[in-house]
Amino acid sequence: MNDEKPAKPVRHLLGLSGGKDSSALAIYLRDRIPEMEYFFADTGAELPETLEYIDLLEDYLGKPIAKLNARRDFDYYLKLHNNYLPSPRQRWCTINLKLLPFENYVGDDDVISYIAIRADEPARAGYLSTKPNIKTCFPFKEDGLNKEDITQILEESGLGLPKYYSWRSRSGCYFCFFQRHEEWVGLQKNHPELYERAKEYEKSEVESGKIYTWNQAGTLDEIVSRAQLAPEKKKSPARPKKLIDQLSDSDDDPDDACLICTL
Ligand code: SF4
Repeated sequence: MNDEKPAKPVRHLLGLSGGKDSSALAIYLRDRIPEMEYFFADTGAELPETLEYIDLLEDYLGKPIAKLNARRDFDYYLKLHNNYLPSPRQRWCTINLKLLPFENYVGDDDVISYIAIRADEPARAGYLSTKPNIKTCFPFKEDGLNKEDITQILEESGLGLPKYYSWRSRSGCYFCFFQRHEEWVGLQKNHPELYERAKEYEKSEVESGKIYTWNQAGTLDEIVSRAQLAPEKKKSPARPKKLIDQLSDSDDDPDDACLICTL
């Protein structure tokens, strides 16, 4: 008698960030890989627009999107890091709130993880799992799909872009330190309560003289005041923007943000 257990089938996983590229990839692969499992690592600090878009996507895909939560929240890890806010060089938030929940979800299963890097993007630095049982696959790159194709996929699906694209170029936490100065202004305008919450994380210690801010350029209030005083950029003609124009306005600087949070 053969006691060997049958090998578990390889799992196909696609992580959604609430960003345009991973959303378009999910739409693109929906009928190509019917066994696909979708997940969303919720940091607990997501924008309401992101959560709303994930719900819309779930309806469109016709399958549940697993919501992965870290074992502990941001505040716990902040304390663990002696109140040092995360920064582009210290991305403990990405590791603890995005990458580890994904790896725990995978466990020891053999997995193919589908990543939404486009064909028109250079190689992107980012936080990808290096576990040997997780293989990565880049369908947009392999099939030569670029930004215009992504736009078309989103338009044709009827989903369009998440609403935050009108004031912010990426998904991710409301306090994400990758935000450009104008995006902090956008947060203050669109979600004043989240802006105030982000400010509460900034501290200065009188004894040590240490100042903890989200951005090296100063406190959020300083950044917002300066951005508001800066001469207004030349306005484009007043016509409704097409989706591709909105995407062209967005910041696609590959080294600025991490794959797992924003694709
Ligand atoms: S979105 Fe920004 S703040 Fe949130 S986990 Fe990713 S890098 Fe960290």
